Amino acid sequence: MADGLRVAVIGAGYAGMAAATELAAAGHAVDVFEASRVAGGRARAAQIEGFTVDNGQHILVGAYSETLRLMRAVGVAPERVLKRTPLRFEFPGEFLMQAPRLPAPLHTAFALLLAQGLDWREKLAAIGLMRGLQANNYRVAPDRSVTAWLDARKTPSRQRRLLWEPLCIAALNTPADRASAQVLANVLRDSLGGCREASDMLLPQVDLSALFPGPAAEFVRARGGSVRFGSRVAGLRREADAWWIDNQGPYRHAVLAVAPYHLGALLPELAPGVAHFDWEPIVTSYFRYPAAVRLPQPMLGVDGGLAQWLFDRGLLCGQDGLIAAVISARGRHLELPTAELEQAIHAEIARLVPGLPLPLKVQTITEKRATFACVPDLKRPPTRTALPGLWLAGDYVASDYPATLEGAVRSGVAAAREVLRG
Ligand SMILES: Cc1cc2nc3c(=O)[nH]c(=O)nc-3n(C[C@H](O)[C@H](O)[C@H](O)COP(=O)(O)OP(=O)(O)OC[C@H]3O[C@@H](n4cnc5c(N)ncnc54)[C@H](O)[C@@H]3O)c2cc1C
Repeated sequence: MADGLRVAVIGAGYAGMAAATELAAAGHAVDVFEASRVAGGRARAAQIEGFTVDNGQHILVGAYSETLRLMRAVGVAPERVLKRTPLRFEFPGEFLMQAPRLPAPLHTAFALLLAQGLDWREKLAAIGLMRGLQANNYRVAPDRSVTAWLDARKTPSRQRRLLWEPLCIAALNTPADRASAQVLANVLRDSLGGCREASDMLLPQVDLSALFPGPAAEFVRARGGSVRFGSRVAGLRREADAWWIDNQGPYRHAVLAVAPYHLGALLPELAPGVAHFDWEPIVTSYFRYPAAVRLPQPMLGVDGGLAQWLFDRGLLCGQDGLIAAVISARGRHLELPTAELEQAIHAEIARLVPGLPLPLKVQTITEKRATFACVPDLKRPPTRTALPGLWLAGDYVASDYPATLEGAVRSGVAAAREVLRG
């Protein structure tokens, strides 16, 4: 800053490290305070017996333009760490949709036309639904639940079960009967409705801390800043036109990049703005099988199972025999004891992998507040707070996006740009 005051960022998740990167790239010294010992927040590396995995298996899509830009800015080549494949939505034996390598918008129409597991009537209805959205500029007004929106379009039930409902849970981490049709439409606009590359799936081949926030911390340090792990901030106060983070300061600007449920502990006056948020969980079970075990694809859907998606980490990142099973949003799985849930998922994997042996080890990570529930007309706070020099960043800050890495990164970039303007 012209007056030599540094900028403080609290939280080294994707939002905080995006803000810090953008500020450091503009020549500012930034101090990042992070409670945990690793970078990444809800998208961080975790250790399970002999493997570095993630606290939850994530996927990115080609439309994550800001995440990809900032990865490059901190020296991470997306081509090296992300496995890019055309969109492929598969429930073995039931449904397969894959985007052909055609220019937009043909890739989407052809993906739907060529989908296996839907009859012609259903395929045309699905194309009609996408075209209707496009004709309305992807506006769903008034906003309503995805179920109500599909009801109004008389969407056939098989198409809902195999296409729209799993897409909704995967993208919004909220069941269709509670999820915002407008936010789903925004996601469809930027992925299936965008250029073909935007709908590509990008599957991480390194852990989520190494994908961006770890290298971002190095980038910030190399530009005169600091990233202080194991530094839980207890409170902020404003004194003489500057912010003090506990007893550290003065800072002309502070970016609060913590999850909404941590805001109140830092500044109680911010808590009411997020008190109406509700949360959805994500469960990831890691099954370690003998190294020869393989799924037929790196990523597969499970129709009618407890698990929703399976990922072969051997095919993705060389962790042979390690399979991640993901269950997004709330559901009947939360009522089961962990051991029972793991047994049921093992049986689901066994249906896809003939002769599957028993797992050598299973570990389940439950993130109870993985994302906010993305309900219709959710009021999300803006970047700017009522307090001078204090900005919010995080996946929950007002935007078109559901709680995603890209939403978090964009919010961090937006907060940094406000700081740079001020
Ligand atoms: C299991 C799981 C699976 C997911 N799957 C996907 C996916 O496939 N694709 C996708 O795009 N998104 C996915 N998401 C969502 C994505 O991970 C989040 O939207 C994103 O990571 C949120 O980032 P954030 O920076 O806003 O918040 P956070 O990651 O929560 O970061 C906040 C940081 O602030 C720190 N902090 C809090 N309080 C303090 C304090 N007082 N002092 C210092 N530090 C503090 C925390 O330790 C944390 O590091 C998933 C999330 C989970 C949990």
